[in-house]
Amino acid sequence: MSKLVIVGAGVVGLSCALAAQKRGWQVTLIDKAFEGDRASHGNAGGLAVSECIPLSLSGLGLKPVKWLLDPLGPLAIRASHAPRLLPWFLALRKVAEPENNRRISNALAALNARCIGDFEVMLNDISLSHALHKVGALAVYESHAAFQKDKAEWMLKRTLGFQWRQVDKAGVMALEPGLAPVFEIGVLLEDWAHIDDPAQLVSALRQRVQALGATLARGSVTAVAAHKASSPAAVLADGTYLSADKLLIAAGAWSAQLSNTVGDRVLLESERGYNTTLPHCAHLLKRQVVFAERKFVATPLSVGLRIGGAAEFAGLHAAPNYQRSDALLALARRFIGHLDERNTKKWMGHRPSTPDSLPVIGPSNAAQNVLYAFGHGHLGLTQSASTAALIGQLLDGVPTSIDMAPFSISRF
Ligand SMILES: Cc1cc2nc3c(=O)[nH]c(=O)nc-3n(C[C@H](O)[C@H](O)[C@H](O)COP(=O)(O)OP(=O)(O)OC[C@H]3O[C@@H](n4cnc5c(N)ncnc54)[C@H](O)[C@@H]3O)c2cc1C
Repeated sequence: MSKLVIVGAGVVGLSCALAAQKRGWQVTLIDKAFEGDRASHGNAGGLAVSECIPLSLSGLGLKPVKWLLDPLGPLAIRASHAPRLLPWFLALRKVAEPENNRRISNALAALNARCIGDFEVMLNDISLSHALHKVGALAVYESHAAFQKDKAEWMLKRTLGFQWRQVDKAGVMALEPGLAPVFEIGVLLEDWAHIDDPAQLVSALRQRVQALGATLARGSVTAVAAHKASSPAAVLADGTYLSADKLLIAAGAWSAQLSNTVGDRVLLESERGYNTTLPHCAHLLKRQVVFAERKFVATPLSVGLRIGGAAEFAGLHAAPNYQRSDALLALARRFIGHLDERNTKKWMGHRPSTPDSLPVIGPSNAAQNVLYAFGHGHLGLTQSASTAALIGQLLDGVPTSIDMAPFSISRF
């Protein structure tokens, strides 16, 4: 039986572990905190399949400047982290070039189009099919002008094969009576879905891979030792070496420091996001609602109504600023009626974000037996099962279902 070591047991690493086991691989998963509280445990729970236009600052005019000047606005950069961010932001600027934008959108659309199907197979395997709610999502706009500004993107998404339907004010209220009556336009995102609880998914995946014989090794990986075509090994902080036929780095926002030790350069930033979960409010919404102008979302999870958003660039070590969670909750009070704020829980997570919004999925450039699955940014939950399906194909050396070139680490 061929051996695979996976570094990182978030939703991506665990999904890949399961896919590899199904193909007969013997898997060892390494994580510094299996039951930790990383992005995979506390995200907004949405399967945002039509999110296929890369994030870019183009067309936003002075908005990003306004956001940056607002201490609790949707975009923040900690001054001490700014110099390290420069190469990432320079690469982000290139994304706006029409040819790049089109290429990235096509690649994301090809990946996202298969996400719900792959996710259903994975949920079925871990007996969690009942936790998927295929009820779409609703993007809401307070003004016609704001919707018109986004219209070209909506039309492009339709061209790329995703379904959406415009509704008027009455339509918004009919779909989501719990919202304040201030939204002029809604866009019903018909292919979206949400799950009951991201933490429950991670825990069910972990139990399933363990039941199928995976070894869970607790420890912090400091480096990956991999000479061109030899057996790679994860080097742990206590000096232990865990070697295998192949090694997969799926360590979320921490992956760049490990890929560097292999010899591969990548631009990856922690794009910190915040949320507040209100345990007694899930009944207020039927589906995930995206507040398009305010840049936040609310999802009715089994653990409560989760209000989340924000993009804060402050690196992996700075303390969370939970005033951001408070700011998002203050917005939610304006737009969702009757919030019961007993026992609310605030949270921060590190989105592993590349400047081109594309994840890194595929083999290392520097070492033949090392593979990567990280950098899923805002879409790690959505793309987890599809990433795993593709990694499974790459491990076995069979043709992949989609073209993997756009996801290669060589693009950096
Ligand atoms: C506020 C917020 C809302 C979000 N909402 C959504 C959403 O609705 N839909 C969606 O699709 N996505 C969403 N995301 C994004 C999604 O959560 C992430 O893209 C995804 O969880 C990344 O998963 P991962 O497994 O790559 O990383 P992680 O969950 O960060 O897991 C990485 C794991 O690697 C381990 N690790 C790291 N370094 C080492 C090391 N050196 N040694 C050992 N172990 C290591 C960590 O302990 C961790 O367990 C959201 C994110 C945030 C922050």
